[in-house]
Amino acid sequence: MGVPRIDGGTLFIDGRWGEAAGGSTFESTNPATGERLGIVSDASRDDASAAVAAAAAAQAAWAQTTVYERSSILYQAHRLMTERAEELAQLMTAEQGKPLRAARNEVRYAGDFLIWFAEEAKRINGEVIPSANSGQRFLVLRQPVGVVAAITPWNYPISMITRKVAPALAAGCTVVLKPAEQTPLCAVAVFRILEEAGVPPGVINLVTTSAPAPVGAEFLESARVRKLSFTGSTEVGMQLAGGAASRMKRVSVELGGHAPFIVFDDADPVRAAKGAALVKFLNTGQACICPNRIFVQSSVMDRFRAELEHRVAALHAGNGMDPANAIGPLIDRASLEKMERHVGDAVARGARLAAGGARLTGGDLDAGFFFAPTILVDVTPEMIIYREETFGPVAPLIPFESEDEVIAMANDTTYGLASYVYTQDLGRAFRLMEALEFAVVGINDINPTSAAAPFGGMKASGLGREGGREGLSEYLETKLVGMVL
Ligand code: NAP
Repeated sequence: MGVPRIDGGTLFIDGRWGEAAGGSTFESTNPATGERLGIVSDASRDDASAAVAAAAAAQAAWAQTTVYERSSILYQAHRLMTERAEELAQLMTAEQGKPLRAARNEVRYAGDFLIWFAEEAKRINGEVIPSANSGQRFLVLRQPVGVVAAITPWNYPISMITRKVAPALAAGCTVVLKPAEQTPLCAVAVFRILEEAGVPPGVINLVTTSAPAPVGAEFLESARVRKLSFTGSTEVGMQLAGGAASRMKRVSVELGGHAPFIVFDDADPVRAAKGAALVKFLNTGQACICPNRIFVQSSVMDRFRAELEHRVAALHAGNGMDPANAIGPLIDRASLEKMERHVGDAVARGARLAAGGARLTGGDLDAGFFFAPTILVDVTPEMIIYREETFGPVAPLIPFESEDEVIAMANDTTYGLASYVYTQDLGRAFRLMEALEFAVVGINDINPTSAAAPFGGMKASGLGREGGREGLSEYLETKLVGMVL
């Protein structure tokens, strides 16, 4: 059977679906089976430029709509996303690989951003500030920044889009989005919803492409783009933020993480191991908030490790469409090779495997990029896995003795996204939440995220916040007006 070509093309520019001007295409494939899912349009820099022009032309009229009009479109999009949740989740599992249950959770999370910003749009309030001069007043206006270029990753292929597009639309900005090359069909599905919800032509534009660099260059070099919002690796994010800085463009970058997961001996090690297993193997370890270094106080290491091993032994890997499978494939061959490199280096330097450690093969697994859920013990600072984001199902265990020692080890990284602490000591919980150089801290909590709360990174994990009130501010300019009466 041939690969289905997506009818009418997958570029959405000025309210019309179309092919790339040069006619180029690329394929989206299922990482669990290798099946080709669809042929999508492959945008060039010229296509990106046309999309930016459409967004710029639509900007003034969109900025003048009332917050109530914009809010009502976002409510409508939320309704449509909720109605199509199952269809979207199945598409996500096929294109990205995560188990269907996790895909359903992500669709709900993606919808949360639509409804949160539908509500928050109505609170774009200004201020009147008293002056020292009786005849003068100060007014503060909050206005849309203008055209936003957004770039999203494959690991959360629907929610990373709504996390950017919903606040941009609420603020009155127009958008050009470039989704990840591995998950263009998820982006097309979200754009169909936004179109049907009534977003006017030109206000949202989609450029699917297999050549990110020229499209990224257009976003940076076009004077019409006023803000760049990027989620992806630290390496690419730093390049783009550098390019944005030299043109004085506003920028938000949500980048990689290297989360510490700290278990003190005053916590229940069995409960902590349950939490560690859930968040470490979430999305097969391919989440920016996944623990990458699991620090366990020596006195509870054996109990923690036994429970983690027990839970890992129960994790089945396979196609995410089968509810028995909790571990989906890695996204591509390069990810598989990275796991082999990180585990191989750790073992060569003295770490021991307590579970997994290799690619999974045999039967249906041969067609996908499956890696066994892995536990490494006796991990030390000279190993690659101690320093670099792994982005896969490998749990490195590191013993520690004291609070001061573990704080120093946890902060000994350039990253600063998520962190986790298990303790029942309130004073210790406060000391840790203040001392950890991470922008998100979970205290006995493996899910410290919500559309209503500001998410982002410190240090090399990024600039800016998404979600919450802060997520809307990223798309607003603050204008000061002095007025003599
Ligand atoms: P990536 O390789 O940096 O790609 C992210 C996006 O950037 C993709 O759309 C990619 O396009 C595009 N891109 C790559 N090079 C570009 C360039 N020169 N100009 C413009 N765009 C370019 O990251 P990834 O592997 O998709 O995502 C995984 C990373 O994202 C991890 O480090 C993870 O921690 C991070 N992440 C962070 C958060 C957060 O909120 N902090 C959330 C999710 C993921 P192509 O797909 O076409 O290459």
